[in-house]
Amino acid sequence: MGEYKTGIILRSISGFYTVDIGSGTIECRARGRLRHEKMTPLAGDRVEISVLPDNSGALERICERKNAFLRPAVANIDRLVIVASQAQPVTEPRLIDAMTSMAALKGIEVILCLNKCDMAPADVLSKIYTHAGFPVFCVSAKTGQGIEPLMKELSGKVCAFTGNSGVGKSSLLNCIEPGFTLAVGQMSEKLGRGKHTTRHVELYKLPGGALIADTPGFSAFDFEEFDVESRTQLQDTFIDFAPYIGKCRFIGCAHVNDSGCAVREAVDEGEIEQSRYASYVRMYNDAGKIARYGK
Ligand code: GDP
Ligand code: ZN
Repeated sequence: MGEYKTGIILRSISGFYTVDIGSGTIECRARGRLRHEKMTPLAGDRVEISVLPDNSGALERICERKNAFLRPAVANIDRLVIVASQAQPVTEPRLIDAMTSMAALKGIEVILCLNKCDMAPADVLSKIYTHAGFPVFCVSAKTGQGIEPLMKELSGKVCAFTGNSGVGKSSLLNCIEPGFTLAVGQMSEKLGRGKHTTRHVELYKLPGGALIADTPGFSAFDFEEFDVESRTQLQDTFIDFAPYIGKCRFIGCAHVNDSGCAVREAVDEGEIEQSRYASYVRMYNDAGKIARYGK
């Protein structure tokens, strides 16, 4: 048996897996045992491999996932970079809040990246989200302003970018790594459009060590919603509510129109941002209209 190593799957193509082991990459096949266990290795999976004498490898084990998504198929996202803008198109806070909430539910840290700062200083959004406790980066894909500190923040993490159309996700990725969008385009051409129903994700390793999923517009959350049962968890996905949870007069307070609500008091006193609270109430009420899946 060869030498054992650990690494991260960068991509999978027809049963071959490219695994980053830090000092380089190794092409691996999956052991029959993994196929037997019906575990499909995903990009982002942390794996144990054995390295064979010819320098190819075999996937021996998939480590427990912290999260996994089917569309796009990717595992272990550490960071979601929400790209937003206060220039055209202006991003509505409720879109950002829906994403921060889903990310929290999946154990993904959020970074807010306010792009097009060369056109409009994103002071309104910057204030809201800094106050809510998120790391906020004001950048410009056009001038390169703010890109370096953003890259430092992403170093060593598996990251996905998301954000509404037109905010500059592709431009940003291109600014971060000029080969990036080109590589993405080439890959989709190679695979042929429409032929493959599964969207294969590839992770790109940047010089700073960040692994970026080639999904400009990470959309996995579009398929997930809170429903009437799970909406009691919604409060826990608003990190800025945390200091007030459990301090309301009534146990099980939904923080919607209950009296003696510590969250609402914090909103009135300006400790919680109005727009964040409005998003919470909207999401809570919307979830009430969705029956529990399968019932
Ligand atoms: P995506 O839909 O989020 O991928 O957005 P794109 O990257 O395609 O960008 C949408 C438009 O905004 C394009 O015309 C870009 O040239 C422009 N754009 C992107 N980033 C910036 C920026 O930082 N400053 C300015 N002025 N324009 C930008
Ligand atoms: Zn309350």
